[in-house]
Order: sequence, then C-alpha cells, then structure tokens
Amino acid sequence: MTVRCPCGTGLVLDECCGRYLTGGAAPAPTAEALMRSRYTAFVVGDVAHLLATWHPDTRPPSLELDAGTRWLGLDVLDVVAGGPLAAAGEVEFRASHVHGGRRGAQHERSRFSRVGGRWHYLDGVALP
Ligand SMILES: [Zn+2]
Repeated sequence: MTVRCPCGTGLVLDECCGRYLTGGAAPAPTAEALMRSRYTAFVVGDVAHLLATWHPDTRPPSLELDAGTRWLGLDVLDVVAGGPLAAAGEVEFRASHVHGGRRGAQHERSRFSRVGGRWHYLDGVALP
C-alpha cells in the first residue's frame, strides 16, 4: 500500500519525507525538505525526528505531541536560501489543524541552520 506524504507534495511517503524521518536513508538536503519532514513527523508522531533535527541551542529536553491535534495539511509560502550548499535558511509555512472540533492554523516563519552537515530547526516567529 502506498501512503501519500502528509506534507502535500503529492509524492508517496517513502519517496518524500519518509526518507528523512527516523530510520530514513539520509538527512534532508534543504531547509524546506527538513521543514516538510518535521511537519510529517508531527503527523505520524515521530518525536525522535523532531528532537534530532532541533538545533542544540534551542532544543527542548523532551517533547510530547498533543494527541488531540489532527493535522490537515501544509502550505509552504516562502523559502529564503536553505539550499543544498547553504548554511542557513528560512521557510514560511501554514499548517492547518483541527483541535477539539475547531479548525486552526499555525502560520510561522522558521529559521534553519546547518549543524555538522545537517539541517536543524533553530527557531520561528509566529505570524497572524
Ligand atoms: Zn513529504
């Protein structure tokens, strides 16, 4: 059975973010790919991937996902730098969800930084 990747590329999971999740084949090559894989990690509950790709300076000691949140989809709105040869990048996105029967969205501009050759989520600014 093929599962469509939750991040919205239209690809199947194993050919999209699945490659970068825990136990995957390789680190994400770009800031956008990492951002997408982190969204997918929220959807599938891959806490280990979220922590492993969090910048050491801002990584929380642990992370518990809210089981009451159901993620509906991801829109990548803007990408600045963050390419395969870059050291830093930014991705603006909107992630839609349902929580307690109410629809909402997380709109954020995230900063990514490469540490030890791998992209990491540094921090983000919430947008209205
Ligand atoms: Zn994906």
